[in-house]
Amino acid sequence: MRKENIPYKIYLNESEMPKAWYNMRADMKQKPAPLLNPATRQPMKAEELAGVFCRDLIAQELDNDTAYFEIPEEIRNFYKMYRPSPLVRAYCLEEKLDTPAKIYYKFEGNNTSGSHKLNSAIAQAYYAKKQGLKGVTTETGAGQWGTALSMACSYFDLDCKVYMVKCSYEQKPFRREVMRTYGASVTPSPSVETEIGRKILAQHPGTTGSLGCAISEAVEKAVTSDGYRYVLGSVLNQVLLHQSVIGLETKAALDKFHIEPDIIIGCAGGGSNLGGLIAPFMGEKLRGEKDYRIIAVEPASCPSFTRGVYAYDFCDTGMVCPLAKMYTLGCDFIPSANHAGGLRYHGMSSTLSELYHQGLMEAVSVKQTEVFEAAEYFARVEGILPAPESSHAIRAAIDEALKCKETGEEKTIVFGLTGTGYFDMVAYEKYHNGDMTDHIPTDEELATYRAKLPMGH
Ligand SMILES: *Cc1c(COP(=O)(O)O)cnc(C)c1O
Repeated sequence: MRKENIPYKIYLNESEMPKAWYNMRADMKQKPAPLLNPATRQPMKAEELAGVFCRDLIAQELDNDTAYFEIPEEIRNFYKMYRPSPLVRAYCLEEKLDTPAKIYYKFEGNNTSGSHKLNSAIAQAYYAKKQGLKGVTTETGAGQWGTALSMACSYFDLDCKVYMVKCSYEQKPFRREVMRTYGASVTPSPSVETEIGRKILAQHPGTTGSLGCAISEAVEKAVTSDGYRYVLGSVLNQVLLHQSVIGLETKAALDKFHIEPDIIIGCAGGGSNLGGLIAPFMGEKLRGEKDYRIIAVEPASCPSFTRGVYAYDFCDTGMVCPLAKMYTLGCDFIPSANHAGGLRYHGMSSTLSELYHQGLMEAVSVKQTEVFEAAEYFARVEGILPAPESSHAIRAAIDEALKCKETGEEKTIVFGLTGTGYFDMVAYEKYHNGDMTDHIPTDEELATYRAKLPMGH
């Protein structure tokens, strides 16, 4: 079946692994818009963020000029336990699709947390420890970030408090237990532990929670607890920076075999895996050295890029976080209850938003039934049981490969396979039973959320 002299899996030696993260913002002429203080509407200064975030992470967050940040040795050593992740040539998928396209995927599911999130979790835990903190707080939706952070905190002996969206807490008891195995405390959100949680419960009794609400709780807990800071697993510049390890490894592996991708595809929730995967390629594009098609894939039920607006918005429901300029659906937007495929955040990384705004990348939205169809197809051919989030990228990669079949073009497609789906079997079950439906918000629905944007659009 193997058609070329390229192995099924391209690995890097330890000595070839990245020693520095790459910051795309350094090569952007038009920088992403700054975070604003919600009260003064002025750019947030490091001092103002210091009560919420870790010191060194704030420096990374605000740095638009430094292209490379050395990866501290402690983090590189942790990376070595589960990295480099394989870059797989999907020969089996190509054959099954009967496409002339050459398909590669970078698989980030080879660690216990089951996703790429560990790449940033270990970095954030390291800087928290370095600062001498007792612990960190965070939110988790589907549970991957909470799991990754629990693993990272136990490695550095830090306390970890996770606010888990209540419906997910109830539906995914095993996720919760994995986190507790690593020593984290897990609280269903909204909870009575925080003022914002109590307020939301009073306003919406019986609510099953949302990511935006869990963020507000975690931030409140951090700022009111001595020796704690808040950490976030996506959206922020620092997270994209840490995730650049994905793209740097991908590029190093492709370079070994002189492979040049035509199309790079990633799913987009808050934008961290995509921002990481594309980082070195976008760098070349920004410097005018190369050109690539870069495609973000999002759910049709939560279409921030394709149907959102580029405007300042709150990152959380409780409106305690800074304002970020991003493609957003509005901070009160919650995807319909039958949406099972993850990627449910209302906004998007401000860096990716600016790149998209400048036309340097594309975005498509896909329906969840088509996503699960692609997930199952992929599992049966390539063996890996993909996370629903990752399967958005699979869907788009298959669609591009099928276009190549029509035109006869031998394009090289690289996509990010961000994780595994073992904890998502309720969603798979729905799909198998034919109970999965597609909800696509109407223009009217989206307009009501958009009308509430804090600074217009
Ligand atoms: C969290 C997650 C995503 C989406 O987050 P991004 O920040 O957009 O990358 C995608 N895939 C998996 C497996 C995840 O856990």
